[in-house]
Amino acid sequence: MKIINEIKVIFPSESCNESFARTCITSFVSGLDPTVTEIAEIKTAVSEAVTNAIVHGYRNTKGKIELTATAYENNTIKIKIRDQGCGIENIKQAMTPLYTSAPEEERAGLGFAVMESFMDKISVKSVLGKGTTVTMRKQLNSVHNKP
Ligand code: ATP
Ligand code: MG
Repeated sequence: MKIINEIKVIFPSESCNESFARTCITSFVSGLDPTVTEIAEIKTAVSEAVTNAIVHGYRNTKGKIELTATAYENNTIKIKIRDQGCGIENIKQAMTPLYTSAPEEERAGLGFAVMESFMDKISVKSVLGKGTTVTMRKQLNSVHNKP
């Protein structure tokens, strides 16, 4: 499928960059005539993935997070969030709703569940000690694109 637009942004794992990532993806997606609901869903999903990279991937350390967003001609988007943090030992367990490795921080264990419900498809690749890449896809059904 033909790519019509693509961005790549690299930022440090500071918590202030959670809102930067939300603003960034909102700005990118806004050019594709999304609905208000679609924007809200996409920025929430991105926020969850970026927060995970900061609080879990780079727990007690700092590193870089790469956000790549691609828009395709058929009105779908692909968003990748990559960290080079600690990695995930058991991806299936990590993606189980209500599972959290940090219950003492009062985390709900719902970040992946939120990403899955707001996006059409999510895939997670992770290598222990090397990092994690979360890839999410969504078809935009904007009214502007309907016949
Ligand atoms: P919540 O998102 O509700 O605050 P949470 O972050 O624990 O809680 P999820 O976002 O669903 O829940 O993530 C589940 C678990 O997957 C985390 O507790 C963590 O162990 C692991 N995890 C998620 N993302 C990463 C990452 N980028 N690097 C390392 N571990 C991760
Ligand atoms: Mg989370």
